Amino acid sequence: MKGLIFDIKRYAVHDGPGIRTTVFLKGCPLSCWWCHNPEGISPEPEEVVTVHRMEGREFPVRESVGTWMDVEKVMTEIDKERTFMEESDGGVTFSGGEPLWQAGFLEELLLQCKRRGYHTAVDTTGHISRKALDRVMPLTDLFLYDVKMMDPVRHQHYTGVSNRLILDNLRYLAREGKQLFIRIPVIPTINDDAENITATLHLLNELDGAVREVDLLPYHALAAHKYEKFGREYRMEGVPEPDEGEMEQLREQFEREGFRVKIGG
Ligand code: SF4
Repeated sequence: MKGLIFDIKRYAVHDGPGIRTTVFLKGCPLSCWWCHNPEGISPEPEEVVTVHRMEGREFPVRESVGTWMDVEKVMTEIDKERTFMEESDGGVTFSGGEPLWQAGFLEELLLQCKRRGYHTAVDTTGHISRKALDRVMPLTDLFLYDVKMMDPVRHQHYTGVSNRLILDNLRYLAREGKQLFIRIPVIPTINDDAENITATLHLLNELDGAVREVDLLPYHALAAHKYEKFGREYRMEGVPEPDEGEMEQLREQFEREGFRVKIGG
């Protein structure tokens, strides 16, 4: 079975516990205004051209993004990092895009990881069918779960989808006793208002102790240059990055409610 991969990152330390290998699957049902990985949104391979400039001359470089790989080939790449993963109590994380958009391929990869004894994490938007979730749930030790904003209308506006399915699936995972790291992008003027933060805390407190960590991810504009390359509109012009003071204040607010918090994932 083959799946579409757009990156494999080694020695990842922000995608779950320990040192991890993170596999990025291409294709996402959302199109968040602030997405740092716009190359992960389309479910098709893409050809892009980057123009390099040197001494007044331009050098266009053609690049393909997205490679069809079979399960064995991905596992060969993962196995190369076995020692680092084992010695650091790390493992393998599947991210995207939305890895569950290729649920059958992901299930097979997770199965192979479990056969080898690797700790597994799935980084998901949660905007996926219950059937897809049920396929991977027993093979996933930890879910890294995005909670972007609580108001369904604003969620629809900024990501292209309502958050109803996302919140339903989150509650379902908690009820099933799955371990969760909640990932919250912090984006001034979009989701850092007191009302949204209070509603988010309220939700996390409902999840019966399933939340093992809250990762506050400060928005940054480093991916802005990628948008033109991928023919996507960049809508974050003028949106500031959060400063350290705001991030620390948020950390304290979540810690006061008893959550373990990490800034930056
Ligand atoms: S869910 Fe993640 S990968 Fe998908 S568009 Fe939003 S930020 Fe990008």
